Amino acid sequence: MTILVTGGAGYIGSHTCVELLNEGYEVVVADNYYNSVPAVLDRVEKITGKTLKRYNCDIRDRNGLKKIFSENTIDAVIHFAGLKAVGESTRLPLMYYENNISGSVVLFEEMAQAGCKKIVFSSSATVYGNNPIPYKEDMVTGDVSSPYGRTKHFIEQILGDVYKSDNEWSISLLRYFNPIGAHESGLIGEDPNGIPNNLMPYISRVAIGKLPQLTVFGGDYDTKDGTCIRDYIHVVDLAKAHLCAVAKILGTTGIEAYNIGNGKGYSVLDIITAFEKASGKKLNYIIGDRREGDLPAFYADASKANTQLDWHAQYDIDKMCEDTWNFQTKNPDGIK
Ligand code: NAD
Ligand code: UDP
Repeated sequence: MTILVTGGAGYIGSHTCVELLNEGYEVVVADNYYNSVPAVLDRVEKITGKTLKRYNCDIRDRNGLKKIFSENTIDAVIHFAGLKAVGESTRLPLMYYENNISGSVVLFEEMAQAGCKKIVFSSSATVYGNNPIPYKEDMVTGDVSSPYGRTKHFIEQILGDVYKSDNEWSISLLRYFNPIGAHESGLIGEDPNGIPNNLMPYISRVAIGKLPQLTVFGGDYDTKDGTCIRDYIHVVDLAKAHLCAVAKILGTTGIEAYNIGNGKGYSVLDIITAFEKASGKKLNYIIGDRREGDLPAFYADASKANTQLDWHAQYDIDKMCEDTWNFQTKNPDGIK
């Protein structure tokens, strides 16, 4: 079985390539390296002792995709490629709509042309917006606060329409909660360009001395310690969810959404405490203002993925912090 992984050199994509190769899948990666480097794929090969096929391809490049589909028999696609910075999407909405939505449409068209109608799509818990917690898949989605979130919602809707028009499609929408952690080899992990937006890479750069101080965004929320609650999930657990989803779509048709989270909420202060324990470092932080658009608390009801995909998260918050720190210390200057 051959899987095309768009965005396969990125954070979640690279961990998923490792799990796919370990399971014996053939892997073809399409990435334009906008937010990653080809060396990540060398490391995936080093971890697994296997090789993958790679294309420097933008998913908006129709001819580039045609070449991939003509040179390979692709059984299913895992579609990670996209831009993901929430704040940037508010400043540059058209860039986000063009890259994420136009790129996805070109990809789906070329899949249909090639007769490949099986896809796992990287969606996000952000599609739930202001719903009550825990989030469940049958809740109404789309009340989202950023252009980034809207791209995820729109692409889910587009895939819904694609399935309605052609019932041969098999589509899995994975709604990720907050992926953190790294592969335990320390060879791959989250390696954002510039100053990180997300909590975990920010914390680890403060701990290693690359950034002076973490600002906790808000200490006056109506939560147990006043800081926001999120559902953190180890990236390897998340990667494995894609294998469960691929196994499912290879044998069925239809469209289903699944929450991929631990089902547990941790506050920002919980994460700081766990990280200090894992790293043995005292973290320099202050409590600052709330960040615009942040919800006080959300976490998953992951029972649908547990029962229908037979997927279960294995790693706890301590392991997530240990693996993040291991990656950070082994790659103080990132992956070159
Ligand atoms: P990432 O930026 O590390 O990986 C995305 C990859 O896609 C990068 O390698 C980038 O170079 C590539 N890419 C971007 N646009 C492309 C294009 N037009 N053509 C080809 N390649 C392109 O991000 P990630 O954290 O691995 O996220 C993967 C997916 O999961 C994204 O779609 C993201 O929106 C989604 N997601 C991420 C999170 C998270 O917290 N990391 C949460 C929910 C959903
Ligand atoms: N956060 C923080 N300081 C930072 C980055 C994030 O306090 O420098 C908080 C943020 O308010 C949220 C949580 O950490 O409550 C997770 O934020 P992240 O951006 O990682 O993910 P999000 O849940 O926003 O997608």
